[in-house]
Amino acid sequence: MKRTKIKNLKEKIGDTVKLLGRIDIRRDHGKLIFLDIRDETGKVQVVVLPKPENVHSLADQVRPEWIVSAEGEVKSRPDKMINPDEPLGNIEMELTSLEIISESDTPPFDLSTDGYEVNEEIRMKYRYLDIRRKRIQDNIRTRSSVNNFTRNFLIKKDFIEIETPILTRSTPEGARDYVVPSRIYRGSFYALPQSPQQYKQLLMIGGFERYFQIARCMRDEDTRGDRQPEFTQLDIECSFIDREDVMALVEEMFTKMITELFPNKHMTETPWPRLNHKDIMEKYGSDRPDIRKNPDDPNELGFAWVVDFPLFEKEKSELGYLMPEHHMFTAPRKEDLKKLSDAPEDVISEQVDLTLNGFEIAGGSIRIHEADVQKTVFDLIGFSKKQQEEFSHLLDAFSYGVPPHGGIAVGMDRLLAVLQGESSIREVIAFPKTGEGRDLMMDIPSEIEEGQLNELGLKTERKKKG
Ligand code: ASP
Repeated sequence: MKRTKIKNLKEKIGDTVKLLGRIDIRRDHGKLIFLDIRDETGKVQVVVLPKPENVHSLADQVRPEWIVSAEGEVKSRPDKMINPDEPLGNIEMELTSLEIISESDTPPFDLSTDGYEVNEEIRMKYRYLDIRRKRIQDNIRTRSSVNNFTRNFLIKKDFIEIETPILTRSTPEGARDYVVPSRIYRGSFYALPQSPQQYKQLLMIGGFERYFQIARCMRDEDTRGDRQPEFTQLDIECSFIDREDVMALVEEMFTKMITELFPNKHMTETPWPRLNHKDIMEKYGSDRPDIRKNPDDPNELGFAWVVDFPLFEKEKSELGYLMPEHHMFTAPRKEDLKKLSDAPEDVISEQVDLTLNGFEIAGGSIRIHEADVQKTVFDLIGFSKKQQEEFSHLLDAFSYGVPPHGGIAVGMDRLLAVLQGESSIREVIAFPKTGEGRDLMMDIPSEIEEGQLNELGLKTERKKKG
């Protein structure tokens, strides 16, 4: 018999069907046994009558989380027995045959709750069990719908999805790189991308006018609270656009997505307010203000744009150089170009940030597309000749006709967390690292074999344990 998915049982009343799934709960009423069986589409009550005896005695053995194949007849429940709290509370299956496919030990924690009460380290060690719980299943499935929505939306707008390398050269986004040693070129290293920033700009020079990617980014920062060593950005870049176009695109995409996927949510203000960086720093003392009218309302989404950032941060680097407020490829506002040489601190940039309920969820800008302006910025931020040479590929590319371009990157983990009402991004990532940067399930970071180290020409100083 072919399998029926549980959500489809509604249309199968009177039929004999086969379910493949897990035992959710088993309630023993002596002669009668009730099994709740679930698969990824739903849960249904299965009634086990005293006869046939062999089926009854098998049903007596099964325990929660065991995987079974169960056949039986789908029936409507008598009115009195209807459970209005369950989507399939008006039907049940009367078991005629049962096969145990895989037994399960008792899980180390309860899977039927939302899980907040369970020690997080234990949840992470047994993450493959933890993600069986309904809350995490919903989060991960919603994440898939959000990705799918953004893909379809952008493709309809003539964007194309391009994968950029994971093994790359250091990209200075302001954090430390994770590095990967090369075996063939001993002593040389790849770096994992902090973002596809340079590649997406090079794609514009390469003749692609509308790029996007759901990109993984890696930054070796000190672990702080909710940060992850790797995170996901919806990365976008377009040619021949201005700041307004970037904002309009993202605003349309998320407005449509919320209407379609999160109909219970409402936005504080539409169109999203445009806040001036200087004003909000004075008003809120923060560049990611929470504009919600009622922060206790879990369905309120306070989106706001922040614009007119200074090109450089107020603070200077240890060596007294200017530091880019966004990144070093961000363009100065046209009317401020002249100021770049005499009053660079006063230059306003083409950066845009998007905040949601007090979190920065996207950042982008129109880029510098002239080699001489890029060089001036490199000089202002104190790049040595050697450092500038590391960007020679970009500056060389700038001599082959550069379309004006710009883009943005949306932090998908935080966006999902806010939309799902989660306070930690770990709750919306299938296999996250802990706050200390460890994967407790895989037990990493881990040491590697001496032989691997030798092959790479590496020696390590191992921290003594304990
Ligand atoms: N690459 C930038 C970032 O990761 C975003 C952008 O400018 O598009 O913050």
